[in-house]
Amino acid sequence: MDVSELLDSLNDKQRDVVAAPLQNMLVLAGAGSGKTRVLVQRIAWLMKVEQVSAHSILAVTFTNKAAAEMRARVEQTVAGNVHGMWVGTFHGLAHRLLRMHFQEAKLPQSFQVLDSDDQLRMIKRIVRSLELDEKRWPAKQFLWYINGKKDEGLRPQHIDSQYDVTEETFVKVYRVYQDTCDRAGLVDFAELLLRAHELWLNNPALLAHYQQRFAHVLVDEFQDTNAIQYAWLNLLAQKNGNVMIVGDDDQSIYGWRGAKIENIQRFLADFDGAKTIKLEQNYRSTANILNAANQLIGNNNNRLGKDLWTQGDAGEKISIYTAFNEIDEARFIAGRIAQWQQDKRALDQVAILYRSNAQSRLMEEALIQAQLPYRIYGGVRFFERQEIKDALAYLRLINNRDDDAAFERIINTPARGIGNQTLSLVRDAARSLQCTLWQACQHMMQNQQLKGRSAKVIQQFVHVIERLEDDSSHLDLDQQANYVIQHSGLKAMYQAEKGERAEARIENLNELVTACQTFEVDPELAEEQSPLTAFLTHAALESGESQADDYEPAVQLMTMHSAKGLEFPLVFIAGLEEGMFPSQQSVEDISRLEEERRLCYVGMTRAMEKLYLCHAESRRLYGQEKFHKASRFLRELPAECVEEVRLQNQVSRPKTKGKFSSTITLETFGDSGFKLGQNVRHKKFGDGVVLNYEGSGPQSRIQVNFADVGCKWLVVSFANLESI
Ligand code: ATP
Ligand code: MG
Repeated sequence: MDVSELLDSLNDKQRDVVAAPLQNMLVLAGAGSGKTRVLVQRIAWLMKVEQVSAHSILAVTFTNKAAAEMRARVEQTVAGNVHGMWVGTFHGLAHRLLRMHFQEAKLPQSFQVLDSDDQLRMIKRIVRSLELDEKRWPAKQFLWYINGKKDEGLRPQHIDSQYDVTEETFVKVYRVYQDTCDRAGLVDFAELLLRAHELWLNNPALLAHYQQRFAHVLVDEFQDTNAIQYAWLNLLAQKNGNVMIVGDDDQSIYGWRGAKIENIQRFLADFDGAKTIKLEQNYRSTANILNAANQLIGNNNNRLGKDLWTQGDAGEKISIYTAFNEIDEARFIAGRIAQWQQDKRALDQVAILYRSNAQSRLMEEALIQAQLPYRIYGGVRFFERQEIKDALAYLRLINNRDDDAAFERIINTPARGIGNQTLSLVRDAARSLQCTLWQACQHMMQNQQLKGRSAKVIQQFVHVIERLEDDSSHLDLDQQANYVIQHSGLKAMYQAEKGERAEARIENLNELVTACQTFEVDPELAEEQSPLTAFLTHAALESGESQADDYEPAVQLMTMHSAKGLEFPLVFIAGLEEGMFPSQQSVEDISRLEEERRLCYVGMTRAMEKLYLCHAESRRLYGQEKFHKASRFLRELPAECVEEVRLQNQVSRPKTKGKFSSTITLETFGDSGFKLGQNVRHKKFGDGVVLNYEGSGPQSRIQVNFADVGCKWLVVSFANLESI
């Protein structure tokens, strides 16, 4: 693409950004206004017109997927090599720095990234070892506390807990946890950022080097940076005068993880002469979708304020579907997707978005039934699967014997008769010697502190790990992985499980070998880390976010959080109910409620052509049937942009709650003799309408909406329902 082409594809405001003189800039603009596009073109402009070397550009985005896409788009736009340019997430970039300067960062060369799952296990162990009551002190709370403090840049010694007994306990766990991680060479996600910041603070010469190198810094999704990320950026780039940040205060959805919208204002104060440019034309969505999203977000206070308009058509109205229950909701969505496919549209243009991952299961079932291929972003991701984590733990321990988290995971997997008693001895020894579990084993063996069976089984375990290393360390990465999977006993263990699940596990283990085969080491880090270390880091970072591989066009399922920055022609948002979305905890807290509303805005603005908003009148949650009102967000939409879905063969329900009346299809339920929508009478509950049916034989249950008492599930054989 030559320079004129580069500029031709932009509107006036966008062009002002791309072709701006070298300066600090804030691009503040709503969803779909081309922020990401402008950021990519600006990089191309810098290289082509300002003759900036790729080497001096640093670009930060929110997910690994976005980073890969950005690199590819820049490469395409400048039709050349972008070698030397740093593009990544804050976490990815911090990791790279720590790897390159592990000594200055006071880390062992073989340090490993600890994912959040292992982090939680580790904290659980510490809570137990400190003999805290786990009911009163759930490990999750410590996890939030520790990550929260790290996100603010605080170490235990920075926290004054003298007068607060509760805080004292939190700080104590934080301290023990950190010591354990340091001993084991483990770095959690929040620690990556904090340590990368400290690395620069403590090494002024190193900082000066990077300040000089990265003369051009660009950040996408800036509204979701937290305090430590901001501090890091500030340290690096405050002086260079060429920082471009793009963001949208209305899309700040990580406040719960410490993101601070105030960083936008801080940027304007901290970065000299920063110029604000607003983009207001939306290129993504139809006018109906855009107007509805604009009106929704208008209910929030304290917005930085911007108008968003589109030249596009009004398009179809937003469809609102009121389902009887969550199963009906999932079936409805699958049905509409099948129709989309019949209309010769591609499945990868479709996304189903929800508030929490737990909602995906029913959607999956409905999609499987309708034979529609789908892919889940988030949920149990490849690198988080049990068998994969087991295999990785072997590789991690081979790579770094001090990795306590890996040690705990596989010490008795597959079972080798190492019971809790033996393990407690090892843990106690590690605690009193202030060393790692592996070192404790060595120590106890040397000093013959282990007796009888315990001594034997621990010795065997140590042997297994050492043998695995000796026999595999000279192999290529994929062969090494294969060797370890075979000879650790993992493969045999999973084969013995039998059945479909076992088969899937074996397939996954094979897939891990393939992943090793196709893995490419970052050339800039090739000297600092072995391929194994590089791969293990990749696995830990990947598990922290949602990724999936693309081979077959498939419907995409994800939370609204992971949909950030993406766009799809057809979008469904499921579960728009009070207590679900907005979530129960947010209903009473205005700032949390506003964050939920922003999340809804993010969800809606992913849609290009058609948007469906769904809610269910009853939903089984945590084993209980709950009746939720339609989400307030639905009521906040302008009437002229929405329409209610009415299915064919409908009968109206006698009683409707809320604004959206419900309608149902006629369908006979197996051999129950009842039909959906049929009027029935119950001795105690009075008259009602049949809504749903499940199970078979004596277990079959029927759901009836009674005029007086509302919805109830009844066991058919006991209910004595009478048709009327
Ligand atoms: P979000 O806030 O959701 O991240 P964004 O502001 O980053 O959105 P982009 O993803 O960059 O927006 O752009 C949205 C869509 O509009 C993309 O498909 C992009 O290619 C298209 N687009 C942006 N600018 C133009 C333009 N000037 N002409 C045509 N299409 C454009
Ligand atoms: Mg974007």
